[in-house]
Amino acid sequence: MEVTTTPIKSVVIVGGGTAGWMTAAALSHHFRQMPVSITLVESSQLGTIGVGEATIPTLRRFYQRLGLTDIDVLKATNATCKLGIEFKNWRTPGSSFIHPFGLFGQQINQIPFHHYWQKLRQLGDPTDLADYSLGINLARHNKFCLTNPNPTSELHIFDWALHFDASLFAELMRNYALAQGVAHIDAKIEQVQLQPQTGAIELLQLDNQQQLTGDLFIDCSGFKALLMEDALQTGYEDWSQWLFCDKAVALQTTQEGSLNPRTVSTAHQAGWQRTIPLQHRQGNGHVYCSRYISDDEATATLLQNVSGTPLHQPRQFSFVPGRRKKAWNKNCIAVGLSSGFLEPLESTSIALVETAIEKIILSFPTPHYRQQQVDRFNEVTMLEYERVRDFIILHYKANQRTDSQMWLDCQQMAVPELLAEKIRIFKSSGEIVRYPWEIFGADSWLAVFNGLGVLPERYHPKVDQIPVAQLQQQLASMRQQISSLVQAVPEHEQFLTRFCGFSREKVSA
Ligand SMILES: Cc1cc2nc3c(=O)[nH]c(=O)nc-3n(C[C@H](O)[C@H](O)[C@H](O)COP(=O)(O)OP(=O)(O)OC[C@H]3O[C@@H](n4cnc5c(N)ncnc54)[C@H](O)[C@@H]3O)c2cc1C
Repeated sequence: MEVTTTPIKSVVIVGGGTAGWMTAAALSHHFRQMPVSITLVESSQLGTIGVGEATIPTLRRFYQRLGLTDIDVLKATNATCKLGIEFKNWRTPGSSFIHPFGLFGQQINQIPFHHYWQKLRQLGDPTDLADYSLGINLARHNKFCLTNPNPTSELHIFDWALHFDASLFAELMRNYALAQGVAHIDAKIEQVQLQPQTGAIELLQLDNQQQLTGDLFIDCSGFKALLMEDALQTGYEDWSQWLFCDKAVALQTTQEGSLNPRTVSTAHQAGWQRTIPLQHRQGNGHVYCSRYISDDEATATLLQNVSGTPLHQPRQFSFVPGRRKKAWNKNCIAVGLSSGFLEPLESTSIALVETAIEKIILSFPTPHYRQQQVDRFNEVTMLEYERVRDFIILHYKANQRTDSQMWLDCQQMAVPELLAEKIRIFKSSGEIVRYPWEIFGADSWLAVFNGLGVLPERYHPKVDQIPVAQLQQQLASMRQQISSLVQAVPEHEQFLTRFCGFSREKVSA
């Protein structure tokens, strides 16, 4: 049977936000040896969403593949380093835990560390799981250093991401893409014309009278989903039965106090607020569920809980948590907000931009594609989104707050079956089941389970092979090693001053 392949000579990217310019940068790099032209069209009049400042470590892999170093990006985007997220008041008011990008303890006899810790805990050991994480201890002490590329022990392993200025990052990607020959048009798309026979996109009518044609269109037009929804009517899966938050109010303030190498997420009555430290200012946002709080109340809560001086009026956002039913439909691929949005709790939106770009690149070892690749792309995208969704749902489902209706309703909600199964298995045996295409590893799940008080009833039976006194000694030694490592590391601010040109004078200048 003959397989139909569609050749690609021209790619049109619609949108010049973080997603558009990241896609342009990565595709221009990928297609540099192939006869493929890339054009990006955006409207500077419409602007971009202008938020999206917290990332996860996959971002670093993304820019490293383009030849950019951590220091290049930290400097260019006024960034700070992020070792994880601190969740305050999520389990109960007054509680706190950190989800680090790193490991907990050391495996013994190929059994994950937390089983050993669990055994000692059941015997009355008071140590916290967090005491065995280098990432958490660096974050708690506001310390930071680059990771050792050849760690000699699991105890040395942690990872990190960035808090950056989203517009400076888009500019960095833009300059990279333009230098690689991407053509740039600043105009508004007024109409999207479809081919009568196939229903695929034929051309874009711009407000400067220009018409743009292409073989492949990438929709990075944000929540509008101009091509994917307005034109192709792809459909959207609404996940608000599990993810209640549907609005946000954001505010930048002057940077005051120390630069924490972590995002802080504080639960409020009907949502949560976060603080993102940048070198020159602070990002703040209150993400909330409009069924339980009015916009005015949500804004007042944000204003009552920010430090520093506001740099502008608070900005409002509305969204429907969920995903586009297909990420690739006909000759169009959605990347970024046009493809879906869960909520910013675990900073996964830009990470899903990266995985979308990676899948596009994998689909084009040559500038052709087949329907089989389209189907695979859609299946993997669906799985990635669903697994991130489930991780975020866990944060809400497992809360133990009794002080407000939203948190009580979250406890009562029925969760998706794979998540329910994962929670059941963890509670009964301590095993953390992994599903295909999960972005977050076992230690991330462990951090959130433990932080919210979801604990296993049993530990792995092999744990009993080690005498208790020996185990106590081994765990004490791990804690000791972590504490010595932390002492040797400089303050986060010192790191930024030394390597990234940070100075206190620059703050809010
Ligand atoms: C409150 C909030 C907080 C967030 N925080 C985070 C976070 O911490 N971490 C994270 O990873 N993500 C976060 N996100 C998501 C993140 O902001 C986005 O994933 C990211 O900015 C990518 O957006 P985008 O490029 O898809 O869309 P946009 O930035 O909205 O860009 C859309 C582009 O399309 C163009 N466009 C639209 N219509 C037309 C037209 N008719 N003609 C021409 N051009 C057009 C616009 O001009 C613009 O250039 C957050 C989102 C929200 C709402």
